[in-house]
Amino acid sequence: MHVPLLIIGGGLSGLAAALRFARFLPDVLLLEKHSRVGGLNSYYYRNNRLFETGLHAITNYAPAKTKNAPLNRLLRQLKIKRSELDLHQQIQSEVRFLDRESLLFSNDFATLDKEIATKFPAVHTSFQRLLQLIREYDPFRPAPFVSARKVLQETLGDTLLVDMLLCPLMYYGSSLENDMDLGQFVIMFQAIFLEGMFRPGGTIKDLLDLLLAHYHAHGGAIRTKTPVSRIIHSGQKVHGVELTNGEEISCDYILSTIGSEETFALLDKPSPLESLPRLGFVETIFELPPEAPLPGSENRTIIFYNSAETFSYQQPQQLVDFNSGVICMPQNFQDLPPSPFKEVRTTHLASYDNWYKLKEDQASYKTAKEETALASRRVAEKIVGNFAKNIVYRDTFTPLTIERFTAKKKGAIYGNPVKVKDGDIGYDNLFLAGTDQGFLGIVGSMLSGVSIVNQHILPRL
Ligand SMILES: Cc1cc2nc3c(=O)[nH]c(=O)nc-3n(C[C@H](O)[C@H](O)[C@H](O)COP(=O)(O)OP(=O)(O)OC[C@H]3O[C@@H](n4cnc5c(N)ncnc54)[C@H](O)[C@@H]3O)c2cc1C
Repeated sequence: MHVPLLIIGGGLSGLAAALRFARFLPDVLLLEKHSRVGGLNSYYYRNNRLFETGLHAITNYAPAKTKNAPLNRLLRQLKIKRSELDLHQQIQSEVRFLDRESLLFSNDFATLDKEIATKFPAVHTSFQRLLQLIREYDPFRPAPFVSARKVLQETLGDTLLVDMLLCPLMYYGSSLENDMDLGQFVIMFQAIFLEGMFRPGGTIKDLLDLLLAHYHAHGGAIRTKTPVSRIIHSGQKVHGVELTNGEEISCDYILSTIGSEETFALLDKPSPLESLPRLGFVETIFELPPEAPLPGSENRTIIFYNSAETFSYQQPQQLVDFNSGVICMPQNFQDLPPSPFKEVRTTHLASYDNWYKLKEDQASYKTAKEETALASRRVAEKIVGNFAKNIVYRDTFTPLTIERFTAKKKGAIYGNPVKVKDGDIGYDNLFLAGTDQGFLGIVGSMLSGVSIVNQHILPRL
C-alpha cells in the first residue's frame, strides 16, 4: 500500500492535519494506536455514561466577526461552520491565592482589567504597559528563550500579581517548570485572558465525530488500533512505516503527532533535543447529581488556586502537589442544555517518577490513587463547598494512566519542554506537529496540525 501522506497519531493535531490535507487530496491515511481518536482529549464509558478524559474548557473563544482570531482561522482552514459547533462561553473564572487574594476573569477582558485596577491599583499602569508589550510581541517569530517571569517581574514589580497571572497560563499550557518562554506566555495570555474559554454543547465525542465526518466526506482514511512500530528510512529520507503486526505502508510524506522523542524512538535514533524534566498531572473527576449544591462555585467555570506562600509549578518531590491546582465545573458554561449530572474536576501537578515506583505493586498504586482523590476532594471542598456525600462516581488518572492511553512519554500532557517550532526534525519528508511543535491545548494542537501541513506538505504537492 502507498499513500502520499501518512499521519501518525489520531489526537486533535493529527485529525486537524488529516482533514486539512484531505481537502486537497483524499489519499491521506491516519494511523491511531488506540481504539478511539482524540488522544489526550478523548472519552470513555463508565457507570453507564460517557466521560471526557480531558475537556475542561477550550481556550481562544472568538466572536464570529473577528475574522483573524485563531478559532475562526482554524474553522476556515478546515471548512467547518461555526454553527456546527454549538459554542457555549464560560460564565466566569477565578484565580484564587492563599484563600484571600482573588482575580476574576471572563471572556470580556474588562473583567480582569477592572479586577487589577481595584485589587492592584499601584501597578495598574504597569499592567497597561504589559498589555502593550503583549500586543506588539510576535510570538511566532523565531527567537531565543526569554523568561516571561523575568519580563513580568520587571514590568509589574509585584510578585503576587505575577504569580496570579502565570498560574492559569502555566496550568493550561506550560511544559516548562516555573517559567514560560515569553512567546508562549503571549500566546496563552491571548488564548485565556484576551479571548477566553468555551466548550461545545455536547461532549468531546461530538467534536471528534464532527471532525471525522468531515474527514470521511473528503475521502480520508483512518485505521484505529494500529500502532506504528517503526519509521522506515534511509539517510534523511523516510519511506514509510511498519506496524506492530509487521505490515508495511509506504508514503511520500509522514507527519508525526506523537511527540519528538517518541518519533525519534520510531526512527531508532536518540533524540538530539535537550532533556528537561517533564511535568505530570493527576486529574480526578467527581460525578454528582445535578441538584448537588456547590455554594462556592455556582457562577465559576474554573478556579485556579494556590495555597502556598510561593506558587510553585514544578515536578513535586512527593506523588502530588496539592498546594495548587485547577478546579473545573464543566456544567458552568452559559446556556448549556440540561444534563443528568454535574461534575467537579480537579487537576494537580504530579511526579511521574514517584507514581512509576508504584507501578509493579497494584495494591499500593490503587491506595495512592484513593488517597489522592481524597486529598484532592478536601482541597476542592474548602473552595467550592462540601460535596463528598453527593458523589455518585469518581475516577482518577495519574501520569501512568495518561502514558498508557496516549503513549506520551512520562504521561506529560504538554510534552517535551523543548519545542520544535518549525516542525522540522532534520528529515526531508518527515515533520512534527502537535504538542511538541509548541501549540498546546485543543485549538493550539489543531492549529499546529493545520499549519505544518500548510507550511511543509501542501506547497510540495
Ligand atoms: C487531563 C487533561 C485535561 C486537559 N484539559 C484541556 C482543556 O480543558 N482544554 C484544552 O484546550 N486542552 C486540554 N488538555 C490538553 C489537550 O488535550 C492536548 O493539548 C491536545 O489534545 C494534544 O493533542 P495532540 O494531537 O498534540 O496530542 P495527543 O492527544 O497526545 O495525540 C497523539 C496521538 O498519537 C497516538 N499515538 C501515540 N503513539 C502512536 C503510535 N506509535 N502509533 C499510532 N498512534 C500513536 C496517541 O494514542 C494519541 O491519540 C488536557 C489534557 C489532559 C490529559
